[in-house]
Amino acid sequence: MTTIADLLAPLRAFRQDIHAHPELGFAEHRTAGRIAQELRAIGLEVHEGIGGTGVVGVLRNGSSGRSVGLRADMDALPIHEQTNLPYASRHPGVFHGCGHDGHMAMLLGAAQHLAANRDLVDGTVNFIFQPAEEGQGGARAMVEDGLFTRFPCDRVYALHNWPDLPAGTIATRPGPIMGAADKFRIVLTGKGGHAAIPHTTPDAILAAAALVGQVNTIVSRAIPATASAVISVTQINGGLAHNVIPETVEIIGTVRTFDPAVQAIIAERLETMSAGVATSFGVAADVTYTRYYPATINDADAAADVLAIAAGVGTAQLAPDPAFTSEDFAFMLQACPGAYIWLGQGRGATPPPLHNPHYDFNDDVLATGIALHVALARHWLGR
Ligand SMILES: [Zn+2]
Ligand SMILES: [Zn+2]
Repeated sequence: MTTIADLLAPLRAFRQDIHAHPELGFAEHRTAGRIAQELRAIGLEVHEGIGGTGVVGVLRNGSSGRSVGLRADMDALPIHEQTNLPYASRHPGVFHGCGHDGHMAMLLGAAQHLAANRDLVDGTVNFIFQPAEEGQGGARAMVEDGLFTRFPCDRVYALHNWPDLPAGTIATRPGPIMGAADKFRIVLTGKGGHAAIPHTTPDAILAAAALVGQVNTIVSRAIPATASAVISVTQINGGLAHNVIPETVEIIGTVRTFDPAVQAIIAERLETMSAGVATSFGVAADVTYTRYYPATINDADAAADVLAIAAGVGTAQLAPDPAFTSEDFAFMLQACPGAYIWLGQGRGATPPPLHNPHYDFNDDVLATGIALHVALARHWLGR
């Protein structure tokens, strides 16, 4: 019997090779090719090009008709790595700074273990390798490309390494676990003219200043105190000279929420507040509100299963709070019940956070991640 320990040395090498050759979202051609090759080598049915560069490996055994999906993400970030590791990125400005290299290695390890021990499961395991998690909606692309109609799953799970938790801790929670991420852009248009005669030029700069102050009252005055939300204005663009009142000013920002009702209030308040300020300053306001990723909402039963299973694999922890960062696994959870899981990988007193140029995936948690994937599959498809 092949044990998980037998797989670790080559998987570490695989992880570090992927780390050295990072690729951005929807451009994971080498990465997807390597995964497909590894999945074929262990006798899985392999489907490529799903939602762009997505890959699905299918393992079937027995006759139960039950199925489970396990997902890893494949893309890297546009960051210049500063780790000085021997396997550091060979592509300047592209970096596996979110640990997706480790996620792929853990999911591949689970596929290898189950392929070598098929009788552990009765049913179908779909190993889902998705493109473009970092802001480009690769999960949505796979769902829209028929992921769950071509590869039906009763449950779907995803792991993400979490530097803030000690290595080996497995944490999740029912309900929201990651936030919805939206973007807004407000363009205020006045007249533009000489700075010395402002009474003839409705002033978009002054309107923008007032509007930024008002936007920062939405969370405290329009959202119930029991709910949570973040609104941050992150860009103001306007003006080119000290003696010219510009015609337009652009305000850009982000909104993070867990509850679609709260999200709707904020979108509406941004619209009405912009219109009100525009009227009072004699300018025009044009608001664009873009919903990027919805909140990642775990199915309560699936999350409870994870916590029960995790206790046999590592240190299980009910996560007390969701995180305000976002995750496009949300789109898969909208289509299929399941859960998103944090796998602690912290080492040292102050491990670099995700997306930091000094970050690196901790290979010491590969075994825990593989064991958790395998346990999730066996729980749903156990004999
Ligand atoms: Zn990330
Ligand atoms: Zn990530």
